[in-house]
Amino acid sequence: MTTASAEVLPTWDLSDLYAGVDDPKIDSDMDDVRTRAHGFEEKYKGTIEIDGLSASHLATALGDYEALLTAEYKPQAFAALIYSTDTGDAARGALLQKTREFGSEIAAHLVFFDLEIGRIPETSYDAIIGAGELVPYRHYLDHERRAAVHNLTEPEEKILVETANARGRAFARLATEVNSRTVFRIELDGETREKSQSEILSLLHNPDRDIRRKAAESVTGGLSENAHVCTYIYNTLLHEKDVLDRLRSYPSPEDSRHLGNELAGEIVDAVSDACARNYGIVADYYRLKGRLLGLDDLTHYDRYAPIPGEDTAEIPFERAKSVVVESFAEFSPRMVEMAGPFFEKRWIDAALTEGKRGGAYCAGVTPKHHPYVFLNYTHQPRDVMTLAHELGHGIHDVLASDNHLLDYHPVLPMAEAASTFAEMLVFDRLRQELTSDRERLALVCSKTEDTFATVFRQIAMYRFEQQAHRARREEGELPTERFNELWQQNMQEMFGDSLKLGDDHACWWLYIPHIVDTPFYVYAYAFGELLVLALYARYQEEGDSFVDRYFELLSAGGSRSPSELVERMGFDISDPNFWQGGCNLIAERVRQAVELAESTGSS
Ligand SMILES: [Zn+2]
Repeated sequence: MTTASAEVLPTWDLSDLYAGVDDPKIDSDMDDVRTRAHGFEEKYKGTIEIDGLSASHLATALGDYEALLTAEYKPQAFAALIYSTDTGDAARGALLQKTREFGSEIAAHLVFFDLEIGRIPETSYDAIIGAGELVPYRHYLDHERRAAVHNLTEPEEKILVETANARGRAFARLATEVNSRTVFRIELDGETREKSQSEILSLLHNPDRDIRRKAAESVTGGLSENAHVCTYIYNTLLHEKDVLDRLRSYPSPEDSRHLGNELAGEIVDAVSDACARNYGIVADYYRLKGRLLGLDDLTHYDRYAPIPGEDTAEIPFERAKSVVVESFAEFSPRMVEMAGPFFEKRWIDAALTEGKRGGAYCAGVTPKHHPYVFLNYTHQPRDVMTLAHELGHGIHDVLASDNHLLDYHPVLPMAEAASTFAEMLVFDRLRQELTSDRERLALVCSKTEDTFATVFRQIAMYRFEQQAHRARREEGELPTERFNELWQQNMQEMFGDSLKLGDDHACWWLYIPHIVDTPFYVYAYAFGELLVLALYARYQEEGDSFVDRYFELLSAGGSRSPSELVERMGFDISDPNFWQGGCNLIAERVRQAVELAESTGSS
């Protein structure tokens, strides 16, 4: 009998972009973009920020700009995709670097454009913005003009884009490479085994406490080996952000992310505060989990332990695929149609290969190219949810592809809502299939833990980041121990007295990619999941009539702010009660788990 882990997992086919790292088309495409970028600069520089600007001139320029960016993104996206499946391969690393340097070179020619949009005299702008040909670009233009107060002069912006790959971006890439190359050693069955980060983290879900403990020690050991370099990287990134925020007049570290997400800071604070106020839900659940596991001293390596009765059999990829597709089918056949090509046309890379970076993502390239899904499929039940999550992003990208490029990418909080919604569909389907309370209990517990990971844990991380950025600004370069202290405090606060994180957990911030790549990304997850709880409740009330409105919401892509989009669904995200409502639904689920535990005599 072959085990699930012996199956051949899908790898993606990137040939829709290029044939390989040495495809000569990459260079010729980049040359073509160079020529067009020069032409664009020559044609439009100095013609946008003028009195009496015509709507047709601006619309033509925007159309050319969009076409140019579409051509520019293709080699860059290919390089990023192929690099992520083997970050240790020198040729892939070199191609990534080459396309990034190319990106900076092109950006140096295009940087004038957004700056000039920001400087169009108010009266000229007001006179043309209502014109029919500018309607599709209105959201982009308004946003660029709002952001313009943070722009520097053109020569300054040029220096920043040209040096981008020798500053923060270079350090972030180094963090990816260091983490992808780390070998985690663990003794199993009397033999020392070497594991990748994805593999070792997956052992934290093992039913055997001793294996979980050893896996946790191995994680701590592997991370500690790199603590010096990763702490140095993080300090450098925090310092760079401090400098750039000062130059660009952003008063707080979070402001630039909020602007990018088109969310008012007060709304994000409302999400963060609501979650922190409701940390008691996490503690209630872990007290139950302690009883279910028969442990009164829960520690960090027990967080993900399966509860007795939970099916821990390995899940073949094919099974995961059918569960996800059937769940989507119940929502709408259109969703299945959109998911189909990801499997049939090999848009998914799920294999566990050497040098592959950890985690999962979905990359929407441009509206003219289809998205790709990246996974590390370890055959665990939660990998089914990850597949649904990333396909949720993929379907969002497919639906948003009727927008032009400048409005194509949804802002992060809306993107995370689409992915989480797809997970809910799978959860709901699995729940309906179950026949015994014991199975129901196991499923409700696993969904609760996933929800905690997306809501409360991300907010605890967000608060860690807020404090880390401020501490670096106030205290100067920080030692690993200082970050450890902030990390441990914020994570422990979430568990209250229900679970005591061990000291060796304190350095586990060292492998979190988002805090390095995209500061303050993490609150988008909490926003997305709490929003989805509200949307899903609405779907359960309305049934089929909800489906088209939901697809419409996703089709808007990045063409509207989250507040506007959500308002159309009948919700007001500026009302703190809205976020409390989401937390109440999570609390309700924990109460269900407690009841199921009592009815099955498990606690
Ligand atoms: Zn996501």
